[in-house]
Amino acid sequence: MRKVNPMAMIERAQRGGYAVGGFNMHNPETTQALIQAAEKSNSPVFLQVGRAIVPHMGVTEAYNMTRRELEKANVEAAIHLDHGTYDEVFLAIKLGFDSTMFDGSHMSFEDNVAATRHIVTVAHSFGVPVEAELGKIPDAGTDVDWSDYYTSVEEAEEFVAKTGVDLLAVSAGVFHGIPPSRPLPLDIERIRRIREATGIPLVLHGASGVPLEDLQGAIAAGIHKLNADTDLRHAFRRGVEETWALGDQQFETAMSAGVRLMIDATVQKMNEYGCAGTAASVDEFEMAL
Ligand SMILES: [Zn+2]
Repeated sequence: MRKVNPMAMIERAQRGGYAVGGFNMHNPETTQALIQAAEKSNSPVFLQVGRAIVPHMGVTEAYNMTRRELEKANVEAAIHLDHGTYDEVFLAIKLGFDSTMFDGSHMSFEDNVAATRHIVTVAHSFGVPVEAELGKIPDAGTDVDWSDYYTSVEEAEEFVAKTGVDLLAVSAGVFHGIPPSRPLPLDIERIRRIREATGIPLVLHGASGVPLEDLQGAIAAGIHKLNADTDLRHAFRRGVEETWALGDQQFETAMSAGVRLMIDATVQKMNEYGCAGTAASVDEFEMAL
């Protein structure tokens, strides 16, 4: 079984001044689209088991499906658990996930620190990195007073020092999903200060719909993993809808059109994030382990 070193992917992104994309799978077709986009643009990628697929097929089958598709390909791809619960993170480590995220952002600060610290200890003993989240990333459509949501610089510094997480997802002005009106400008200065205070690479969730110049500013300030889902899902859906708009069509015809449009949309993201053309060869990443 081919394994990659996710933190080597991120460290290269830090040196090269770009970000690696984290994208969600929903079924075999969307998994294939992400893998083919990574192959096409020679890009490293995080293939994420996100929240939506868990009730659909469960963490174990989502992992097995992704691993199966990856065995046929030649890409530097880390299978990552996105927004995992406490129990799911342990299951993910047992299954062989390359990378995990524990989301304790709904807990009190003290409980989040304690739970995350324990998870980091266990995950690191298996060589698995841990991403955590501090501050809340609101869902699109939520009425938001940003002061309740932003990640605090002081809390981030304390949290990272006490837990030893490898990556920190921050809340700096984006939503999960696409907000109905124009997004707020990102709080780039806050990102820069969190990066300086914590000394670890940062992650931005909800990157769909954020203007490219904002993303570039965020990368320069310390974001080296960008999670996007909505734009890619919409691309797939457009392929399906355009096919069925032609009248009664085979399911497979619609799926294939979805895959094609999702590949194009993913390649575009990889170019925008700067990770296209930066994948390590199989020999390189196996040696880096
Ligand atoms: Zn997220």
